[in-house]
Amino acid sequence: MSEPVLLLNCGSSSIKYQVIDMATEEVVASGIIQRIGESESTLDHDFGGSSRHDSLGFPDHAHALAHLVKVFDEVGPKLSEVVAVGHRTVHGGEAFRETTVIDDSVLAKLRELSPLAPLHNPPGIAGIEAAMAVLPDVPHVAVFDTAFFATLPPAAYTYAIDDELAHAHGIRKYGFHGTSHSYVSKKVAEVLGRPYDSFNQIVCHLGNGASISAIQRGVAVDTSMGLTPLAGLVMGTRSGDVDPGLHAFLGRALGIDLNEVDALLNKKSGMLGLCGATDFRDITGLINAGDQRARLAMDVYLHRLVSYVGSYLAILGGVDALTFTAGVGENDALVRAGVVTRLQPLGFRLDEAANAVRSKEPRVISTPDSKVTILVVPTNEELAMARETKAAIG
Ligand code: ADP
Repeated sequence: MSEPVLLLNCGSSSIKYQVIDMATEEVVASGIIQRIGESESTLDHDFGGSSRHDSLGFPDHAHALAHLVKVFDEVGPKLSEVVAVGHRTVHGGEAFRETTVIDDSVLAKLRELSPLAPLHNPPGIAGIEAAMAVLPDVPHVAVFDTAFFATLPPAAYTYAIDDELAHAHGIRKYGFHGTSHSYVSKKVAEVLGRPYDSFNQIVCHLGNGASISAIQRGVAVDTSMGLTPLAGLVMGTRSGDVDPGLHAFLGRALGIDLNEVDALLNKKSGMLGLCGATDFRDITGLINAGDQRARLAMDVYLHRLVSYVGSYLAILGGVDALTFTAGVGENDALVRAGVVTRLQPLGFRLDEAANAVRSKEPRVISTPDSKVTILVVPTNEELAMARETKAAIG
């Protein structure tokens, strides 16, 4: 018996989706709607070995999803067989500590949380409302990027600011990419053949967005992203950590308002700001061609990453596994080597031949005498969401 689950990931102008059959955990259909809100939106849908491309104008998520239902009707698979819809939801705030079946009160609470994630939660909510309207008879489930980090201890999640202000506005570290950190860290336990709660690990999720987590005997105890996904590591276009005084400095120096400073740090910083490129294949190409800005960008990226690994080593009191995942972590052997080489004095040893292998499988890339097992584990956020969705509906 098939058990198809529909996964929706609604961004401000796009909807990515997959249908996964939970009986086999295989992807049955997938697609993406792009440029919602523009005069020419596109839909690309793959099912059963054939593809469909539509070019239309979708003014909003509701129109895009209504058209998507039509495409499912005409091309397949049958939406009437879907047993649940899982919605990627970026910010769960303090209210949502786990995957949650959505009802009116959950929706109301999500709307209340919107100020915490103004770029991410409103399109997510629009997607939930539109999907519930077109698929009213199946359970809809919110899978939160923040939920895995609900276990962070107060010492790790509290900012040293006025505590009344913090409580009044829910200002604290939340962490993001939780679905990936959870999936990958559990996969590490499987690969090592050890119970999840029997060892300490650090997971580096290095994609366009990047974050790192410290997991102590199966419990997340720290992570690099904070109140927003801007904090922590250097990313494709996001600065990661900067002096908090930089906002005021830029505001004064450039005469721009806080929203503009925020946009500058989110969209024009990181690797893009440092060297004009965001894709690590391009950055490596620039370095090989002798580009000094790209060299410095890479050094800044690695320095930040290694300083977080060192910090989490101290917080965990020792670590058994260090894992790389997501686009850069899974594919860029030079980044992995750059991190591990810097950690060599602490007993980390890279198996260079294993690191050079390209594969979609989880694998160990450290030598047997390395004090810490180093791994590459491909993430699969959609499958993780589908599992969470299935578990939430029982
Ligand atoms: P997102 O955060 O958008 O989900 P991904 O995890 O898909 O990002 O990562 C995308 C990034 O992965 C690209 O911008 C690029 O820097 C990097 N990447 C993808 N493939 C390779 C590759 N073969 N070599 C090096 N980097 C790669």
